[in-house]
Parts: sequence; C-alpha cells; structure tokens
Amino acid sequence: MDCIFCKVAKGEVASDIVYQDEEVVAFRDINPQAPHHVLVIPRRHIATVNDLAEPDAALVGRLYLAARQVAAQLGVADEGYRLVMNTNRMAGQSVFHIHLHLLAGRAMHWPPG
Ligand code: AMP
Repeated sequence: MDCIFCKVAKGEVASDIVYQDEEVVAFRDINPQAPHHVLVIPRRHIATVNDLAEPDAALVGRLYLAARQVAAQLGVADEGYRLVMNTNRMAGQSVFHIHLHLLAGRAMHWPPG
C-alpha cells in the first residue's frame, strides 16, 4: 500500500514530528492553514472515519489525548485551538489515512468554509 502517512509513521519520509508514542504520531502539516497546524495520526492505517470499528475506540481516544498534549506543548491550550477530521470528498479529505488536524495561533471562524 502506498500511503504517505504510513511512510511518515515509519520514518520513511521526512516530517517535522512534534509528538509520538507507540500508537500515535503528530507532525507539522506541509501546507499550514494557521500559525500552528499539526496532524495527529494513528501508526496503523485506517483510511477514513467510516472505516473505524468498535475495537478502535481507544485508539481514537489516544488521538485526542495526543492532540491535547501537543496543544499544551505549543502553549495554545488556554487560548484555544481547533480539531478537525475530514471524511471523504465533500469534506475535502485528500489523504486517506485518518488524521486529526490541530489548528491554532489565530482566531478560527464558524461556520468553517
Ligand atoms: P485532508 O485534506 O484533511 O486529507 O488533509 C491532508 C493534509 O495533509 C493537508 O493539510 C496536507 O497539507 C497534508 N500533507 C500531505 N502530505 C503531507 C506530508 N508529507 N507531510 C505533512 N503534511 C502533509
């Protein structure tokens, strides 16, 4: 399988990693949409949220706990940040390995574009 985020998780392509543990890797987005834009991914390949199953519940929780840790590291936990996971075409998903976008460092708008 030719998945760019699997390669990031394995260290096979360069990335700016800000957090990692046994199950999760967080790295800076190459096309940042905010002063801080970090992607939090599971090491295991899961294409979309639609592919999640009951046994993945703890792993999804770990994505959020890692995002919480990254927000604290970046010093944006109190001022605030946005967590987004796009699913499929209408949401603009372009990489089919689930990832939580952590966006911070500017005011976010609602509704999102
Ligand atoms: P999405 O459109 O929600 O699937 O988001 C995919 C994100 O991955 C985009 O924000 C891209 O800029 C980002 N991206 C793609 N390839 C890389 C990479 N090799 N390293 C870091 N970020 C990447």
